[in-house]
Amino acid sequence: MLKENTAVVTGGSRGIGKAIAVKLAELGANVAVIATHDGEQARDTIKTIEDMGRKAGLYVCDISDIKAVNDAVSQIITDFGGVDILINNAGITKDKLLMQMTEDDISSVIDVNLKGCMYVTKACLRNFIRKRRGRIVNISSVVGLMGNAGQANYSASKAGIVGFTKSVAREYASKGITCNAIAPGFICTDMTGSMPKEAVEAMLDNIPCKRYGKPEEVAELAAFLVQDCASYITGEVIKIDGGMYI
Ligand code: NAP
Repeated sequence: MLKENTAVVTGGSRGIGKAIAVKLAELGANVAVIATHDGEQARDTIKTIEDMGRKAGLYVCDISDIKAVNDAVSQIITDFGGVDILINNAGITKDKLLMQMTEDDISSVIDVNLKGCMYVTKACLRNFIRKRRGRIVNISSVVGLMGNAGQANYSASKAGIVGFTKSVAREYASKGITCNAIAPGFICTDMTGSMPKEAVEAMLDNIPCKRYGKPEEVAELAAFLVQDCASYITGEVIKIDGGMYI
């Protein structure tokens, strides 16, 4: 159980992040959600968590902006009294063949997905070290492990998260901090909802389980990794992909 714990979930306004935020609240955690918009979906996440009797707050912040990240994390620590769990989930795609990718397609995806994950982790570290306990879960992707045509920028950012996860795990294990990554396959969210229908259907041929994943299934895995029962697991990358990349 996660009573008295505070979790920070980046990209917790919708999709996988929302499912994780709600699952952690279900287990007793208070949740600070970081997202770029104070929109209907973000407000719905906050209300869902508050209706469960937990404290929740929305922090509008672009995680690729290090100053905005430092300010948001300081404010969260002031408002919640500390942080126990960090879920680095926010991410974007700008899919194209490498030949067609602009500089912005490359840098924006690396800035949000990889540098953003590093900035938020760095901002939370001093607080984890002081508590001598911390749980970090980074959302990578199977394409960070296997590569994918049309996603050179995204795959590189998600592969970077794997190296980052293993390095943080090694640096801070002795301080009671674990750092693991989850590598989802195809999960039904807004992100995959914007893909061409034919590409989505073709993907099913490569998934041995013959179905797409649900955000709630990723949330169950994240919830496992942040609990005390997982305190001897660190530096791991766990795939949840219906067998897409065996
Ligand atoms: P999604 O539905 O598109 O949601 C993305 C979330 O990230 C939103 O909450 C969004 O906030 C937030 N976000 C985007 N850019 C941000 C920024 N610069 N600063 C702060 N927050 C930002 O995505 P999803 O499908 O749930 O994916 C969540 C994570 O899982 C991503 O890292 C993605 O790469 C990874 N993943 C997804 C799949 C899949 O099949 N869906 C597979 C493998 C890995 P706003 O609501 O404010 O825009």
